[in-house]
Amino acid sequence: MLNDCLLFIFDLDGTLYSKDREKNYYRELQKLRKRFIAKTLGVPLKEADRILAGLISNYGENIDITLETEYGVPKPRYYAETAGSVPVEDIISYDPKLRCILCQIDSTKSVLTNAPSVWAEKAIGQLGIADQFGLVMTCDDGIVKPQEEAFLRVCRGAAVEPKRAIAVGDNPQRDLYVPRKLGMKTVSVGVFDTNADFFIDSIYGLPEILR
Ligand SMILES: [Mg+2]
Repeated sequence: MLNDCLLFIFDLDGTLYSKDREKNYYRELQKLRKRFIAKTLGVPLKEADRILAGLISNYGENIDITLETEYGVPKPRYYAETAGSVPVEDIISYDPKLRCILCQIDSTKSVLTNAPSVWAEKAIGQLGIADQFGLVMTCDDGIVKPQEEAFLRVCRGAAVEPKRAIAVGDNPQRDLYVPRKLGMKTVSVGVFDTNADFFIDSIYGLPEILR
């Protein structure tokens, strides 16, 4: 059934490595964000915590644009001092099993993540799968999931129509809902999504559905 899929669009965090490790990443990220806001805005950590919580509840996880427009914080500096400073080697390790699974997929493979490149490239490198992806799209230019354009530009980049693509992710709302609307096949990872075409417990279940 998946033989006619020419393009795989993988989410990164919580999909290509486990949810537990993603929680560790997020915990580190929040600490760095809080410190960054405290330092940059010159406020105590407690106040930084309150500002951070407010930004996330109003704008979601991608607070970079708001920090730039409302507080004049350049995005590259924010990325470098937060996601880019998370100690990747403490969180993610080389995953030969994942590498083996990806090597068996002949179609074009891509990563589409709402994390910035400074994190995504390190995480993919640490997993040992950097050579597996034709395209890695991140949040750096402000186009993020679940915007349709985030998915469409991956398809354009690979010169594959959406209906010949398959989206793989652990967040149904962000990773799978729009791809399904665009006619892609969908695989939910670790979170049961009744609307997805396939469900796998972890990324290691991928070979089962590709048979
Ligand atoms: Mg994810």
